[in-house]
Amino acid sequence: MNSFKVGMLALYAFTAFACVLVNPVVASAHVHKQATKTDKVEKLCDFAPQNDVNIPAGLEMHGDGIDETTFNAVIDKVSSFYSPIIASKGGKLNVNRKWTDGTVNASATRQGKTWTVNMYGGLARFQGMTSDGFAMVMCHELGHHLGGFPRVKGIFGINSWASNEGQADYFATMKCFRRVFENEDNVDALSNVSVPEAVTEACSKTFKSQKEIALCQRAGMTSKVLADTLYALGRRGSPSREPATAPSFTTPSTAEVSTTDNDHPLAQCRLDTYMAGAICGMPYTEDFAQDNATGGACAEERGDKYAFRPHCWYKVGKRKP
Ligand SMILES: [Zn+2]
Repeated sequence: MNSFKVGMLALYAFTAFACVLVNPVVASAHVHKQATKTDKVEKLCDFAPQNDVNIPAGLEMHGDGIDETTFNAVIDKVSSFYSPIIASKGGKLNVNRKWTDGTVNASATRQGKTWTVNMYGGLARFQGMTSDGFAMVMCHELGHHLGGFPRVKGIFGINSWASNEGQADYFATMKCFRRVFENEDNVDALSNVSVPEAVTEACSKTFKSQKEIALCQRAGMTSKVLADTLYALGRRGSPSREPATAPSFTTPSTAEVSTTDNDHPLAQCRLDTYMAGAICGMPYTEDFAQDNATGGACAEERGDKYAFRPHCWYKVGKRKP
C-alpha cells in the first residue's frame, strides 16, 4: 500500500469518529489554544455533519434565522443554567460567540478544565432557525460534555470525555431544554402554535399537568426545527446524505443498528431521539450515568417500554463504554 493510500485511510479513520479528532494547532481557529504536551489530540464534536454551507453576517435571506441580539440572549440564558453546573463538576464553561463566522454548525471541545462550546452565526442565520432551536443546539453541545453514556473513545481510548451524537441529542431535550425552559410560560408560548396531535399524544403519555405537557410540546416543536435544519443541510450534499422523504413525527425510523453508532444519525432518527428525550419521565435533575445505560435515562435495559434511546443509533445492552 502506498503512503497516499495509508494517508487516506488514516483520514477516513479520523473522520469516522462522531467527534472528529483534530490537532489543536490546526484547529486553533476553533479553540484559540495551543497544544500542550499532554493534550496533543482533541475532539471537536459538531452539531451537524460537516458541510460547506457558509452564511456570512448580513447575507442571510430576509427573515431567516435569528438576529445578533437574540443569538447573544440565547447563549446568555443557557449559560446561566450551565456555568454553575459545569463549575460544580470542576470545569469552566467557555462559550465562543462566533456571530460573524458563517459556519453552519456548532461544536464542543475540551482542554483540561476548560469546557468549550463554539456557537456560529452561520447556523443562527440558517433558514428556519429560531431562538428555541438555537438554545437546543447549545443543549446538544453541552450534551457532549454532560450527557454521559454512551461516550466516544478516541485513539487508544484517550479523550473519552465526549458523549456520542445520539446521546448529546437525548440529553438536549431530556435534561437541558427542560431545565432551561421549565419556568417559562410555555402554555402562553404555544398559544399561536399548531401542535401536531402526535406530539400532544406522546407528551400526554408521560405528563399530566398542563404545564408539564406544554413544556414537552415546546421541546417537541423545537425538535422539529432542528430535524428540519439537519434535513435541509443533508439534502444539499452531493450525493444527498438524507433520503427523499423529510422527517416527521409520525414516521419514526425503522432502522436497527447492530452496534451503537456514535456518529450523526439521519434527521428522522435524530427527531426520534429528541422526542424520546422530551417524553422520558426521568427528572432533568438526575444526571445520566457515565458508564451504564440506565442511570438518568429511560432504558430498555431496565424494562422501560418507551422513551428509551432509539434503535436507529443505539444497540441495547451490548455496548460497554
Ligand atoms: Zn454533536
